[in-house]
Amino acid sequence: GARLQGKVALVTGAGGGIGRSIAQRLAAEGAALVLLDLHDDAMGELAEALRRGGTPVSTHCADVADAQQVRAAVEAARAALGPVDCLVNNAGLTAVIAPLERMGDEDWARELAVNLTGPFHLIRAVLPDMVARRWGRIVNISSAAARGGLFRQAGYSASKSGLLGLTRNVTLEYAAQGITCNAILPGLIATPTVEKLPPPVFDYAMSTTPARRPGRTEEVAALVAFLCSDEAAYLNGAEIDIDGGSRLC
Ligand code: NAD
Repeated sequence: GARLQGKVALVTGAGGGIGRSIAQRLAAEGAALVLLDLHDDAMGELAEALRRGGTPVSTHCADVADAQQVRAAVEAARAALGPVDCLVNNAGLTAVIAPLERMGDEDWARELAVNLTGPFHLIRAVLPDMVARRWGRIVNISSAAARGGLFRQAGYSASKSGLLGLTRNVTLEYAAQGITCNAILPGLIATPTVEKLPPPVFDYAMSTTPARRPGRTEEVAALVAFLCSDEAAYLNGAEIDIDGGSRLC
């Protein structure tokens, strides 16, 4: 259906595996799209494809960890398409895979800056318009790592757990103003990054996933689209696992 007709949706990390599917799905639901990513190549191709399909698109190269760049991007997007109705904090990274005792200051700081402070910057920048219009949808892409940790990815896990705390606080402070904020916790999702995992790592992940397959980016995108819809108005501060049951193993 076209549940997001007339809405403006901002997706961070739009050039990545999951971000691209989210943008495509929200566009299919009728939203105009604000795409934000560090890099322009994949995002530019996506923007062209969306425009060919008739979707208004505005693209922004920015680092979510940089408050000034985020403010500038949100202002430019507002000028191009209008205020943001739906924000999807999807940009995220792992800076290093290392045992905790060998994790460097810079890697730790970068993971927190991108995966946790980034969503804070975006949320702070879009909230005033949402409050003024008494309607808003914020979806934070956390991770199964927020619950179970991830071996040798302490900074990543901590940042994704922190994002759950940020999610709850947005709900506490803004639910009365028509704004919802929910977190999605994906297990292993089939993206180019995940496809490059060493076979033993991938096989181990599948052995601890009752569904015995990775998730599809489109399956994450379908959940995001629902959370952005009017129908999901009473779902707030939720943590939704989309993991083929792996949290049970
Ligand atoms: P990806 O690496 O394919 O895409 C991430 C995108 O974010 C990239 O286009 C990258 O350029 C962009 N990005 C990175 N740092 C940025 C920054 N500072 N500012 C702006 N953009 C930035 O990753 P993905 O697999 O599509 O993951 C998307 C989200 O889903 C991430 O938050 C990730 O942690 C989360 N996640 C992924 C999986 C999985 O199995 N793929 C599982 C759980 C959670």
